Amino acid sequence: MEEGIISVDRWAEGSQAYFLTHLHADHTQGLTSSWAKGPIFCSSLTAKLFPFKFPNFKLSLLRVLDLGSWQPLSLISPSTGSKITVQVMAIDAHHCPGAVMFLFRGEFGCLLNTGDFRWEKNTERAKLGREMLLNALQDDVVDVLYLDNTYCNPSYEFPSREVAAQQVVDIITSHPEHDIIIGVDTLGKEDLLLHISNALNTKIWVWPERLQTMHLLGFHDIFTTKTSVTRVRAVPRYSFSIETLEGLNTMRPTIGIIPSGLPWVVKPIEGDDKLFGSLLVSRYNRSKVSSKSGKQNDKMDGNLGSVKRFHKYIYSVQYSDHSCYQEIEEFIKLVHPTNMKGIVSSSSCYVDPLYYFGRLCGINQPLQGMHHQHQKKERGDRVVPVHTNSKFRSGCYSGVEKKRKKVVGRLGVHLSWMSVLRQAQRGVKLAENECSD
Ligand SMILES: [Zn+2]
Repeated sequence: MEEGIISVDRWAEGSQAYFLTHLHADHTQGLTSSWAKGPIFCSSLTAKLFPFKFPNFKLSLLRVLDLGSWQPLSLISPSTGSKITVQVMAIDAHHCPGAVMFLFRGEFGCLLNTGDFRWEKNTERAKLGREMLLNALQDDVVDVLYLDNTYCNPSYEFPSREVAAQQVVDIITSHPEHDIIIGVDTLGKEDLLLHISNALNTKIWVWPERLQTMHLLGFHDIFTTKTSVTRVRAVPRYSFSIETLEGLNTMRPTIGIIPSGLPWVVKPIEGDDKLFGSLLVSRYNRSKVSSKSGKQNDKMDGNLGSVKRFHKYIYSVQYSDHSCYQEIEEFIKLVHPTNMKGIVSSSSCYVDPLYYFGRLCGINQPLQGMHHQHQKKERGDRVVPVHTNSKFRSGCYSGVEKKRKKVVGRLGVHLSWMSVLRQAQRGVKLAENECSD
């Protein structure tokens, strides 16, 4: 973030202090068990989970930051060579277990890096986070906001996680005779699973590696690896596909639920009303958005409902650990930064938050428009699927296409439930997705 001083979720040489917002794979690319470039600052929960993800890591390099309190760091100014003090505070990001934002004060000014974050309004935890941030900021002006711009587009409207979790429960209760599989990552969406468990008074099956994580998080009685005790299973998201569901349905009636901020539909193949494998596309890829006003003028079926049955066996529920567009806007209004940069970009396309929100900081819309092509991966960037939905520029189409391919790769992996189960039971380390949504 600040050249020669601090790095957030970036693991190249040349910084004096490294900060890890959370343990999702797209934030740890370049970080290995043999890390020796310097101390890594993170939350206590991330530190607790850290050895599980990075066995044999030298734990003396981890520095735990308590939430909501300033921590002074003595560093060296790269410009003058003299000692400087940088103040840092970790603030709950409401994303996945251990996820934090970092607020910095130093000779470079005041910087806020959200990492991945969800900025909901109504929960107690969200209120505490808001208070913590406002207390920390006081009269400080945030010079640069490094923002989770995953859903930085007005098309991305979705409900609170509380509402979405109840939608998942409703889907399950409306299928009393079905087995249920829910696609999740190796970390995140625990609250959803807890909500289901409480509402239905049932245990939830998880794969062995995930069970260990649940135990580390303090959930000892809710999750199980015994298939016989529950009909609700949380499975690795990469194993979740139409083929898997079709295979399972030859044995028992089963439905799948994908909790994700991205609504997916199956694209029918022209001239063929049969579903074609797992070819899934975002319905928003086909919608038209006014690139100037950012207003959606064609919402396809006119329904932005957050539950979609896009296949006879699969429901998509917009349960997301990232902020939706409106929450991003509220956050920016609250922080009112002088400048901002998105932390999420793909190898080919970048959604510039200044395009939609520059006016909130008194900055004119960037000349290059909402997206610009990415020449080269820059520091601080991370590769995640491009969440774009319209025909802004021809340059961006490659990003959209790449995303499509990625999604097909991600959700379309042909892997039968039994093979996943067998792998999991053998303790095979399951691959992790590059990002969680
Ligand atoms: Zn994340």
